Amino acid sequence: MQVPAPFDYRRATSVGDAIALLQDYGPDSRVIAGGHSLLPMMRLRLARPEVLIDINHLTELDYIRVDGSFLKIGAMVRHVTLQTSHLAAEYYPIFAEAEAQIADPLVRNRGTVGGSLCQADPAEDLSAVFSALKANVVIAHRSGTRKVPISEFHTGPYTTILEADEILTEVEVPLRSNTGSAYEKVERRVGDWAIAAVGAMVRIEEGLVSEAGIGLTAVRADHFRAKEAEDSLVGRPPSTEAIAEAASLAATHCDPFADQRGPEDYKRHLVEELTKRALSRAMNRSLPEVH
Ligand SMILES: Cc1cc2nc3c(=O)[nH]c(=O)nc-3n(C[C@H](O)[C@H](O)[C@H](O)COP(=O)(O)OP(=O)(O)OC[C@H]3O[C@@H](n4cnc5c(N)ncnc54)[C@H](O)[C@@H]3O)c2cc1C
Repeated sequence: MQVPAPFDYRRATSVGDAIALLQDYGPDSRVIAGGHSLLPMMRLRLARPEVLIDINHLTELDYIRVDGSFLKIGAMVRHVTLQTSHLAAEYYPIFAEAEAQIADPLVRNRGTVGGSLCQADPAEDLSAVFSALKANVVIAHRSGTRKVPISEFHTGPYTTILEADEILTEVEVPLRSNTGSAYEKVERRVGDWAIAAVGAMVRIEEGLVSEAGIGLTAVRADHFRAKEAEDSLVGRPPSTEAIAEAASLAATHCDPFADQRGPEDYKRHLVEELTKRALSRAMNRSLPEVH
């Protein structure tokens, strides 16, 4: 059995304390949240932090609430909490749908929203969800906070804009009227990572699509997003033709590669089909019926 390299352990008592500890211990220290990505990496010696700064006791980051025109989700919200949140589901059923398909109950009981986004795994589901919802992330640093669109947060596989002494504290999603959302994922077996998955958000006003978000995962989409497909929908009436065109654009502009989960053309086919399904269900949640 593989064991991690030796490390020291500190328990943060507040967000400010976590940032101070990150500054004190420097780039060889790492925050640990649910530990479901970091600990396996440490056991494989792919990560060798000298100090772990535990943020599990920061209850100040464990909330889902409506604040003004945003649904705000703290970084320490566990997958299971988001999966079962009536408040989140009331505005965006995509959360419960996606969360039910992330890993298994053991992982969902412990893994966090913040850890998922900061791990920046290219096959991560919540990145596609929050990209579809055009969320913002809130980042705390020594002199305050900064807010950035999720589209600017990930800089590549396993990398983000976070500095060594910053922590993600919150994700905020704009509240929208007349809006539907849905998540579609294909995995090899229950609890596995996606072969491909698509999240969709559609807002319909006066019979036309006024806003659309399409998040893709596991297919190397630029910033987890199908921007060309989103743009193609805006200003059009919701229809099967508009959905088919957007799905085709999503499949054309992503960049899947062959691996143990399947060949490239199969993944592209999945993106097209899952985009159709996710958009169709999202539109039907925005309107009584879509023709
Ligand atoms: C068997 C298994 C199957 C899985 N299947 C899926 C799946 O199908 N889909 C999916 O999306 N995910 C899946 N996951 C990943 C799971 O969702 C993890 O919970 C997630 O990747 C990491 O969250 P965590 O809280 O455990 O983060 P940790 O492992 O604690 O941390 C991950 C990284 O983020 C950093 N970090 C954590 N929180 C913060 C913060 N607030 N601010 C700054 N940095 C932070 C850490 O320093 C570390 O670098 C799976 C995991 C396992 C073990």
